[in-house]
Amino acid sequence: MKSVLIVDDSRVSRKMIRHLLEHSGFEVAAEAINGKEGLDLYIKLRPDVVAMDITMPEMNGIDALKAIKEHDPDAKVVIISAAGQDYNKADAIRAGAVAFVTKPYSDEEILEALRSS
Ligand SMILES: [Mg+2]
Repeated sequence: MKSVLIVDDSRVSRKMIRHLLEHSGFEVAAEAINGKEGLDLYIKLRPDVVAMDITMPEMNGIDALKAIKEHDPDAKVVIISAAGQDYNKADAIRAGAVAFVTKPYSDEEILEALRSS
């Protein structure tokens, strides 16, 4: 079963993603509330894939993505973020993301991105 680390500052978003994953054959490794915690938990737990928000306090998702890739160049990070933010898909892919899903997302978009990672 593929393990996923959920990184999002919104409790509601984390809950929705967790619910979706737990009903779709994924294991939720942990939830992190910002990029810094996401980086720490990635290093500690080594999940198969990370579902990463962008806009978060402390450390945003793009900086966390870069830090995770620095630690583990093979890390698989899927960015899940609202459109029209400070960063777009091209920025995320350049920083090493395997996929970029725009909020509001369909369940299938997230599952497909995580499955193919
Ligand atoms: Mg956010």
